[in-house]
Amino acid sequence: MIRTNWHTHTSRCGHAVGTDEEYVETAIEAGLKTLGFSDHAPYRKPFPRQRMDFETYPEYKESVLALKEKYKDRIDIHLGMEVEFYESQWEDLKTYRKEMEYCILGQHSVYFEETSVYGIKDPRDLDLYTDMIEEGCRRGLCDYIAHPDVVMWAYPRIDDTVRTAAKRIAEIANRYRLPVELNCGSGVKYPKKQYEDGERWAYPTRVFFEEFARQKCPVIIGLDIHDPTLFLMDFFLDRALSVIEGLDCIILEDYDLVAAAAKRKKEFGFI
Ligand SMILES: [Zn+2]
Ligand SMILES: [Zn+2]
Repeated sequence: MIRTNWHTHTSRCGHAVGTDEEYVETAIEAGLKTLGFSDHAPYRKPFPRQRMDFETYPEYKESVLALKEKYKDRIDIHLGMEVEFYESQWEDLKTYRKEMEYCILGQHSVYFEETSVYGIKDPRDLDLYTDMIEEGCRRGLCDYIAHPDVVMWAYPRIDDTVRTAAKRIAEIANRYRLPVELNCGSGVKYPKKQYEDGERWAYPTRVFFEEFARQKCPVIIGLDIHDPTLFLMDFFLDRALSVIEGLDCIILEDYDLVAAAAKRKKEFGFI
């Protein structure tokens, strides 16, 4: 059971269900005290699929802020966004960074609309994925690194390139004082997959968390909710936790991401 979740989507992205209010009501029912909405950042057309339309962005803000006010006595609601670092989209990303209370970095492609992380099998692309995360963090775009190991979806094996990526991401997180996320979304929602070196869930990936434990990177649990009813189930959370069982991970509970974001935005000149 967790009391804070910063990683919550809405139906605007096209692959989540339920109304915004259902997310709030169900989070309250599940005992959450803090609920951060972080829907996928929209881009101007042609935008990648599985994002809210660019035109929907103002309505997203209004809806979350209205719920924040309406439910203020029952739960702390915050307006955030799951962003990716794409140089070509930097102007819009800057706007989101300024206007959102916080941003999480969930890099789903290496380049805008190119080289999806769900198809990466080439070590060079894995290195590039890490480069993009590094650049996003260097520019102060985010307040935590969401599913840092999502790139393991299709990557066939745990090899030295993977170990290097895990080590680098841990170093990046520490350099910019960013927590990393233990993600409870798609990686554990689908059955275990067969890889060259055995069967496992796509992510979270233990080798990343061994490195996070070694380098003492604080970890935030992110439910990555795309369906409000999942707030009432610990099933995927338990699966994700089973991946890091026995590791000496520093799990942050009830971390004030918004306060950290305000400081960071100031430090990087976004406010
Ligand atoms: Zn999503
Ligand atoms: Zn997400």
